[in-house]
Order: sequence, then structure tokens, then C-alpha cells
Amino acid sequence: AQATQQKTVILVTGGHGLVGSAIKHVIESEPANSRFGKRTGEEWIFVGSRDGDLRDQADTKKLFEKYKPTHVIHLAALVGGLFKNMKYKLTFLRDNILINDNVLHASYEAKVTKLISCLSTCVFPDKVELPLEESKIHLGPPHESNFGYAHAKRMVDVSNHAYHEEFGCNFTSGIPTNIFGPHDNFDLEDSHVIPGLIHKCYLAKKNGTPFVVSGTGKPLRQFIYSYDLAKLFIWQLREYNDIDPIILSVGEDQEVSIKEVADAIVKAIGFTGEYKFDTSRADGQFRKPASNAKLLKLIGGYEFVPFQKALDETVQWFLSNYANART
Ligand code: NDP
Repeated sequence: AQATQQKTVILVTGGHGLVGSAIKHVIESEPANSRFGKRTGEEWIFVGSRDGDLRDQADTKKLFEKYKPTHVIHLAALVGGLFKNMKYKLTFLRDNILINDNVLHASYEAKVTKLISCLSTCVFPDKVELPLEESKIHLGPPHESNFGYAHAKRMVDVSNHAYHEEFGCNFTSGIPTNIFGPHDNFDLEDSHVIPGLIHKCYLAKKNGTPFVVSGTGKPLRQFIYSYDLAKLFIWQLREYNDIDPIILSVGEDQEVSIKEVADAIVKAIGFTGEYKFDTSRADGQFRKPASNAKLLKLIGGYEFVPFQKALDETVQWFLSNYANART
């Protein structure tokens, strides 16, 4: 009986997506019992929507009864690019509220000792003093383009505090900036900037057509490699003890322009054709830097994979998995 008590069962929702598969990769490829590798007594379970629809309370409960997790990393969400977010605001609001409420409440009922939910820098107010910091989430309305998604995600922080104050639950959240890596969604219409541009550049090379990047290429963003983010979530699960969220990101000095992203993709793909910017297309916000000061202070030093290396690995994955990737 003692052995069962000591067992740590970590349930990862959204476990087959971009971030979930990165956590699986890191846990399995880092040396056992190392800082980020699998530890003795740990069992990691990665579930996707085929294992249960988390919008459904009964499905969610069943999942928790089946696996009896002691820890949860909650990544599952209805996610999408700008266009999809603008078009389906209510669906983004409702589905994500349902998913989050079900996962948090099932975690409470199953007496989960620690739950980490994944938020996004979209939760921050549209008009707020930069850089973005953990304490600024609720200081004003989010950008109107994705207010459904943003409000649903913000409520997780409110719920975490309420579960803590009423029931003493150890529920917290991590806030990543833009993520990229293997297993991303490389759809041409409905993807984030890096996977979308990788796919476009690949097609331009294959078809001998120009590689056209939307906008001026000037906006700046912080990108985090999914394998780095995976390590930060594993660290957060094991070592972070706070209900308040923590921004999981590279530093503000690591902002890159969209042009630098496109240059890196051209290099990684080995594209030598015509390459240009369509300045008639909207640029979006110029920059939205997030501070990782809290992270660096608590983790005590962490070396991120250099951007070009991470991008090369992502492109290699895309090229080797083109037939099965989400395109
Ligand atoms: P993915 O789309 O790759 O993964 C999301 C996963 O959620 C999918 O694998 C999907 O499972 C699962 N899911 C969606 N709806 C349901 C449902 N109703 N029931 C059960 N599972 C469901 O996204 P990411 O890995 O990029 O996102 C992980 C987290 O990171 C999300 O919470 C997202 O909001 C957040 N995030 C992402 C950013 C990014 O740049 N990508 C930036 C900031 C935050 P299946 O595939 O099995 O259908």
C-alpha cells in the first residue's frame, strides 16, 4: 500500500499537441532522474481529445477516475490563429471555459496535489504598460480580436485563487509567449507565424514560386522553442510553489523581428528563389515584450536553445513528417 501512495501519476491534457508532445519528448529523452528526465516512481500519461472530450463533464470525470492522477499539466484548449479567433469568439469563450472548469473541478475532486494550467500572453490587457508582467493580467480588457479565448484563459487564474482560498488546492498556471517546434499546426490558413511561414517557404521552393511574407517584417516577438517550454513546465511542476502565474519565456532582449524569422526559415529550408514582403497586409501589434525576470530569479539560470538551431530542428521535423503533419 505504501508503494502505491508514493507513486506520482502526471496527467498531461492536450498531450499529443505541440507542447504536450514536447513534454513527452523531454521526459523520455533526458537522462532518468535528471532535472528534466523521468524520475523513479513517476508515471506520465498523455491524453488527447480521443481519450475524452474535456468540454464534457462526465468524460472528464471518467478520465480522472481511470488514471487517478496526482499531478496535472493542463494544456488542452481550443486554439487557433487570429482569423479563427475573430470569427468564433463565443465558441472560443465557451469551449475553453468548459474545458478549464471541468479539468479544474475534476482535479479538485480527485484530490490532485498540483495542477498547472497553460495560459497565453493573449490574456494580458491590450493597453498596459510594457513589459508584460505576471501582476498585470487583470488590469484592463484584452485585445478585442481574441477576447473570447483571452477571457476564458484569464478566468483560470481567478479559479486557481478561488480553489486555493476555499479548498486549499495547489492550482497554478504558466504563461508562455509564442511557441514553435515539432508537431505544430502547419496549416497555411490557420496557424501561427512560424509554422505558417515554414510551410509557405517549403511550397515556394518546391513550386519555384516567390516566398511572400505578409506585412513589413518589422514587428518584434518573443518565441519559445517547445522543447525549452517543456523543460520549464517540468521545472514548474517540481519546483514552483505559488498560485500566481509565471511567464515562461525567453528574455526581452531575445525579441526577433518577423524578418529575422523569415530569414532563418529561408536559411533552414535552403530557399534561393525570390523572397519579398507584402506590405499591403496588416502587421499587428509592433511589439508586446514579456518579462521573464520572475522565471530567471526562481529557476536560477536556464540556457535556451539558440533561435536558429531550434528553427532548424523544427524545419527538419516538418520536412521528415510532411505527410503526417497538421497541414
Ligand atoms: P495544440 O493544438 O497543438 O494542442 C492542443 C491540444 O488540446 C490538442 O492536442 C487537442 O487534442 C486538445 N484539445 C482541444 N480541444 C479538446 C477537447 N475538447 N477535449 C480534449 N482535448 C482537447 O496546441 P498547443 O500545444 O500549441 O497548445 C497548448 C497550450 O498552449 C494551449 O493551452 C494553448 O492555449 C497554449 N498556448 C499556445 C501558444 C502557441 O503559440 N501555440 C502560445 C501560448 C499559449 P487532439 O489533438 O487530441 O484533438
